[in-house]
Amino acid sequence: MGWVNWLAKLERAAKAGTTERMQSLADYDRESLAADLSAAGHKPIHAAVVLRHFYESGGRQVLGKSPIGKAVIAHVEQSIAMRRSRIITKTVAADGTTKLLVGFEGGGAVESVLMPSLQPGIAAGCVSSQIGCAMGCDFCASTRGGMERNLEAGEIVEQFLHLKEQASAIGRRLKTLVFMGMGEPMLNLDAVIAGIRRIADPQLGGLGWRQITVSTVGIVPGIDRLAGEDLNVHLAVSLHAPDDETRGRLVPMNRRWKVADVMAAARRFEAATGRIPTIEYCMLAGVNDSDAQAVILADLMQGFRAHVNLIPYNPIGAGVSGVNYARPSRERMGAFINLLRERGVVAHFRGTRGDDVNAACGQLRAAARI
Ligand code: SF4
Repeated sequence: MGWVNWLAKLERAAKAGTTERMQSLADYDRESLAADLSAAGHKPIHAAVVLRHFYESGGRQVLGKSPIGKAVIAHVEQSIAMRRSRIITKTVAADGTTKLLVGFEGGGAVESVLMPSLQPGIAAGCVSSQIGCAMGCDFCASTRGGMERNLEAGEIVEQFLHLKEQASAIGRRLKTLVFMGMGEPMLNLDAVIAGIRRIADPQLGGLGWRQITVSTVGIVPGIDRLAGEDLNVHLAVSLHAPDDETRGRLVPMNRRWKVADVMAAARRFEAATGRIPTIEYCMLAGVNDSDAQAVILADLMQGFRAHVNLIPYNPIGAGVSGVNYARPSRERMGAFINLLRERGVVAHFRGTRGDDVNAACGQLRAAARI
């Protein structure tokens, strides 16, 4: 089966997994709620106020003190749910990282993560875009059970609202949001973009475009589409190996879009948006951590305004292929980053957060179904 057909089949399967259920306010944007109010005989102008109060209350209330009439409030409360997700479990790691298992009324569950920053008063959030993942990356737990379905925009927004509420409960403000949880965002891009528009809308989620990062394993048409949207979000590309032979073993999607294709798309994104992409690189001992691979990676980065983010591998047991990976030694990782920096590459290590509760990168896996 060709890759185009395979992707279309994936999308059909994801849509087929979506079930009918009552809408929540997170499913609406201003235009669709205005149309709903209008159809029910109310003034559409009230939609903006209803949604503003909903987001301000963290998705708990339609209205606080408001000039809107009781009839509008009654209509919204009777016909639209406040939320259609709930926190099934909440696990807090020693470093304060909080992993939520969020279950949806429409079926299935995902994990979302809140990471308190080292800086006081703020926190970062990580949301999922699909239930499971079909991409099969060998070092990632999210793909082990395959892909169940795409999340809808409202389900993405509700994860954001849960994280915002959790941050507020510990006296912090949710400052940034990354789409690095379960799933490949570029294969559910309509919902991801619709969710981002609500989350970044100053009158709704109020997070701001620049605080949002969309990650991809290298779905080139998705990168190009994101670059062409009027979104000002960041892009993170999961490269994980600088050569096709190694990357093909780690990331099956490399069979469709090779290292050169993915890097060219990342360069186009930077040229079109002016936003500096991040090249994500999960460090695996004896697999992608050699001096030679550091030099090849540095060559790929020449003349490219992008940063390399090195992620020490977080254990998940045997990968899809049965291989057991390990994190390289500190010395090896230090030598690798030094080779990059000596060649002018801006490179950092990403701090490992929440690995004691399997909340770190690559470890997310919904352990429950509802
Ligand atoms: S790394 Fe991302 S794209 Fe790859 S299997 Fe995991 S969730 Fe899917």
